Amino acid sequence: MVRYEVKEFKSIVNKLKFIDSWFWCAYTVNPYNGCYHDCIYCDGRTRKYNMHADFEETVYVKVGAAEALDKKIRQGRAMLPDVVSMGGVCDAYQPAEAEYGITRGILEVLHKHGFPAFLLTKSDLITRDLDVISAINQRSWATVAFTVTTVDDGLARVLEPGASPPSRRLEALRRVKARDPRIQTGVCAMPIIPFLEDADGAIESLVASTKEAGCDFLLFAPGVSMRDEQASYLLRKMEAAFPKEHGLFVDKYLKDDAFRATWTRETNDKLLAACKGLGLAVRARRFIPADHRKHNYAIAERLLNEAYELQLAGGRWKGHFWAGQAVQMLREPVADVHARGGLRGIKGMTAAVAAEIEPWIPARQGLDRFIPGKARE
Ligand code: SF4
Repeated sequence: MVRYEVKEFKSIVNKLKFIDSWFWCAYTVNPYNGCYHDCIYCDGRTRKYNMHADFEETVYVKVGAAEALDKKIRQGRAMLPDVVSMGGVCDAYQPAEAEYGITRGILEVLHKHGFPAFLLTKSDLITRDLDVISAINQRSWATVAFTVTTVDDGLARVLEPGASPPSRRLEALRRVKARDPRIQTGVCAMPIIPFLEDADGAIESLVASTKEAGCDFLLFAPGVSMRDEQASYLLRKMEAAFPKEHGLFVDKYLKDDAFRATWTRETNDKLLAACKGLGLAVRARRFIPADHRKHNYAIAERLLNEAYELQLAGGRWKGHFWAGQAVQMLREPVADVHARGGLRGIKGMTAAVAAEIEPWIPARQGLDRFIPGKARE
């Protein structure tokens, strides 16, 4: 039985040190602390998030969050419109949202100020807010993603007991596209638990279902992070529900480094091949603002996507990754930096990557820097 505790929080928005290269978000907002969905693998239980011990039983409701965000944006001159992600640590559409509407209030504030949004959930309640999500997308950019780690509703009932079944999540994705085909949609297959979610044909079914739901992308990260409270909760639940798979998971995935490396590589290959086979992107398209960040973000997107591809192929990827991060964090147009011969001096930029991106940089940024708001089409 879940218990709600209404609480005022002083700060509601978190600015990331680096823009996230999976979801392209610069800010995160959690309308709730705690999550009724109670996924057995949930990373929110990790100590670094400072959540309470009864994470799935007590949900703190952040009343006044929309007003606090509105005030923060109005006062925070340094807060340029950029992607706000919701649902990363505690699902923004868990059942509490039907009662309290904190997430909807936040979306309305984002729309008012022209901030784009990346929404990740496991609940079809999100379809209630398609009017405001569509409006955000029209003004700036909105992406709706569902985490789906298996298409087996029965298995998901044990792994993610409080969430909408995967069949309903996929149906919700169809409804998003039917309502507004311009909203980018996708599936996040994170995590994929070895011996539970990788049976023959399971990966292919997941990719095919994503495609059938009309999604634009599928992001994947097979395997499970294993950290402090999150790891002990997962192992306890797995042992109780799946003793045989728990034994295999511990003996092979956790204790055998060679097995884990091979499994991860092979599962990545399988996911990549299945996505390519169906013409499904494995990266989400990012928000590109129309101001001075326009070329910085577009170039960073290319570099970070290349870094990802190199990583999947087992190549050297860090040079592209850190150059991409550096370019997207520049406070001035990369064209200006280049024009005064400063490209190679950007922290994190190697000579090889600088040579690669030179042809992508326009001679001048021109008047772009003065145009606020709307993203690329
Ligand atoms: S929906 Fe997300 S935040 Fe909620 S328990 Fe599951 S993994 Fe954690």
